[in-house]
Amino acid sequence: MNRSRISARVRRIKPSPSTAAADRASALKREGKSIVSLVVGEPDFDTPAHIRTAAVWAMEKGETRYTVLAGTLELRQAIVAKLKRENGLVYDPAEIVVTNGAKSAIYSALEATLEAGDEVIIPAPYWVSYPDMVLACEGIPKIVACPESQSFKISPAQLEAAISEKTRWLLINSPSNPTGASYSAAEYRGIAEVLARHPHVLVMTDDIYEHIRFDGESTPHLLNAAPELRERVLAINGVSKTYAMTGWRIGWIAGPADLVGALNTLLSQASGNACSISQAAAVAALTGDQSFVGETVATYRARRDRTLARINAIPGLSCRPPDGAFYLYVNCAGLIGRTTPAGTRLESDSDVVMYLLEAAGVAVVQGTAYGLSPFFRASIATSQAALDEGTDRIARAVAELH
Ligand code: PMP
Repeated sequence: MNRSRISARVRRIKPSPSTAAADRASALKREGKSIVSLVVGEPDFDTPAHIRTAAVWAMEKGETRYTVLAGTLELRQAIVAKLKRENGLVYDPAEIVVTNGAKSAIYSALEATLEAGDEVIIPAPYWVSYPDMVLACEGIPKIVACPESQSFKISPAQLEAAISEKTRWLLINSPSNPTGASYSAAEYRGIAEVLARHPHVLVMTDDIYEHIRFDGESTPHLLNAAPELRERVLAINGVSKTYAMTGWRIGWIAGPADLVGALNTLLSQASGNACSISQAAAVAALTGDQSFVGETVATYRARRDRTLARINAIPGLSCRPPDGAFYLYVNCAGLIGRTTPAGTRLESDSDVVMYLLEAAGVAVVQGTAYGLSPFFRASIATSQAALDEGTDRIARAVAELH
């Protein structure tokens, strides 16, 4: 029998394009080329000292064993307090599950709920992992293109049109990776009106960038605008982006008891509890001094403002100011159809990205990876010096096109 050793589920998915772009940039660096990488999606700051110290203490105190599967009561209580304090949402510790990062929270929630052929509505541009996670769970990603003219957000009419009998989830990420677009309370009410007509549709909110926003306001949550949806919403979050803790792998899900119970059952067999030491660190992050958050957001904001102005000064490129997160999603329609000094015609955003890498030594990620072209994503989670050098190089390379 000529059967593949790899499951059809895994053969259906591909490795993350941003990882591929980062690998390509590293390979060129190893060859001795000067590369400015604007690829990575993680804070360039160290985890604050008081959080690191809490982890050391946890180890010294012997918190090195299995914890309760859903996460220590202390951490779940800290998450409950955070949800109340920052989001005005009321949960019980029994409605929280701590996971190995928000990524595994989303994947596990899909695995616990999707039947083969179930549809998941994903507004594009989307975080690269969503469609592949759905495919890995034998679901069908239903991609809805949300153009720049509607600030990259799904409209109530688009949502209505995308819903079918098979729809299981709507996935909302606000502020968004890659566009930084954030939904307002009024926009959420429009979405909630549609959802009211379709009670079989559940909503996953990926709130991982909630604190990284530039207008000084707090990020509205769907459940603030539409509390009646509480039994249909899984709210996903974690400490990775807010507290520069990407390596610690702590995320969580807050949601109704039946869904959270199913997740507990799945995780009890599939992964066990999240790292005990990281859980202690996450308690310190959520309950300790929060000044790191404001300071880093101010830094991201200064980088956003300066880099946005420099990008928008390049003929052929334009970028809508992101409301939050740490990316610029740059429209490169003005470069399509132009020709490089080597005589290659740029046909797509992948061609543009390849040209910027090879001719200018700047690594960014093509918009096709996020489901909406022609764009590229540049991360501002790197030093201002690297951003200045990167934008200078892009400007020079663009000037050489004809
Ligand atoms: N959601 C989005 C939109 C993200 O950009 C990321 C990280 N790239 C995650 C979730 C995953 O975060 P974590 O490190 O907690 O798994």
